[in-house]
Amino acid sequence: MRFLPVFLDLQSGVVLLVGAGDPARAKLRLLTAAGARVRWYATDGHHDLTAPADLAALGADEAAGIELAAGDPLTSDLGGVIAIFCAGAGSVGSAMSARAKAVGLPVNVMDDLQHSTFIFPAIVDRGDVVVAVGTGGASPVVARRVRERIEAALPARIGDLAGFIGRWRKTIHGLIPEFALRRRFWERVVDGPIGALILAGRAEEAEAALKEIRDPSGFAGSLPSGGPEGRVTLVGAGPGDPDLLTVKALRALQDADVVFYDELVSSEILDRARRDARRVPVGRRVGKRGIGQDAIHSLLIEAAKSGQRAVRLKGGDPFVFGRGGEEIEALRQAGVACSVIPGITAGLGAAAQFEVPLTFRHEALRITFLTAHKAKDAEAVDWSVLTDGKMTIVIYMGMTAAPSVRAGLLAAGRSPQTPVGVFARVTRPDAQAVVGTLEGLPDLIERIDGGPAILIIGDVVARSAPWRHQNLAQLASYFQVAAE
Ligand code: SAH
Repeated sequence: MRFLPVFLDLQSGVVLLVGAGDPARAKLRLLTAAGARVRWYATDGHHDLTAPADLAALGADEAAGIELAAGDPLTSDLGGVIAIFCAGAGSVGSAMSARAKAVGLPVNVMDDLQHSTFIFPAIVDRGDVVVAVGTGGASPVVARRVRERIEAALPARIGDLAGFIGRWRKTIHGLIPEFALRRRFWERVVDGPIGALILAGRAEEAEAALKEIRDPSGFAGSLPSGGPEGRVTLVGAGPGDPDLLTVKALRALQDADVVFYDELVSSEILDRARRDARRVPVGRRVGKRGIGQDAIHSLLIEAAKSGQRAVRLKGGDPFVFGRGGEEIEALRQAGVACSVIPGITAGLGAAAQFEVPLTFRHEALRITFLTAHKAKDAEAVDWSVLTDGKMTIVIYMGMTAAPSVRAGLLAAGRSPQTPVGVFARVTRPDAQAVVGTLEGLPDLIERIDGGPAILIIGDVVARSAPWRHQNLAQLASYFQVAAE
């Protein structure tokens, strides 16, 4: 991010516009519509257009906010000016930019990133709710497309909702001085029936309902102690792609006071947490041990007991080889409120991305998820129950133990020709798949450029996308050899 979106208070001063023709007129329209007071130097660098027809084309209201300035903008008085816009100003634009920079005023020269210290976003304008979309000047078309999507997703009366809260803010501040509790009060208003009434255009009923709340702290869910109630939510972050978060997971992240996350959670996903939420890494790091499960339990309990909403963010699903079960038990024992939001487990992410149908009519009737972290774990697995040819086996943490997995399955009688896939970093931009047979499993692992990786073993792997591509490639090279 090079440009930080900020909102300029147009009441706080005058904006200077330099330029003429259509570009200047477009800026005038935007600025006056937003309620700006504009001092306009109508020059294109060659002509000074002291009485431009442009002004006549504007409505009386708009024209009232515009002061036509005579003289040279490069030597004019900048007192009271809060920002400078150049549109259709020719060479005066860059000279004006140098002047603005020298005195530290924000300046925008239309279509000229080099001379601008701020740029215009695409805007969604719903009264008090304004959304600014920028692409750092790279592509206004992309910004407009994003804007369209936001327009479509935002309820029409979202601005009314913000305005309603704005009017009540002070009163509620007086009634609930504690910040965290007050935030929860407003969340319940926004997410509950009162918010729905506003969005439905029934503002008077909403007003009445808010007035009817006799105990605002109680409404916000305070404890007898007066503080907010804390809780822990175990959230599955999925295998990597942030778009695979569930809607519920996203909401939990947006409401969190603190996020305790594992090493498998990508930074793109962490970015979706509330901006002010504290982020605490608790997983193992490459070459470093984690803080340990007991310490994690203590942190979660402590956070909840101090009234925070803690999210325990885990790769994939919390209850699939994620030690979520232990955490829930520790929380329950400590009397802490907790809940679980499922995530897409790595095995399912791999299957979807690489088109491995984990079950298939008549061919794959069962799925087993197992972990083989170390060779020792692999030795502890009873492979004899995994010999059913109609069973798909999904193995977590199986990279180092791959030789033992192979030995175990072969010794138990599974065919050496059983198709096998190794799927690494699935759903991430650098995802990788290699496919082959059980016999060659250790060689497949060699071809993987780093984990985490999941193994899928079973006939259905032969239906996967990488398998089909591999066969096509083999066929192509066969024909090539034949042709030579
Ligand atoms: N709770 C997680 C699993 C944690 S165990 C889940 O449901 O996915 C860690 C193992 O998960 C890794 O060793 C690897 O086998 C697998 N894994 C996690 N993320 C992965 C990814 N993006 N690609 C491939 N395998 C992954």
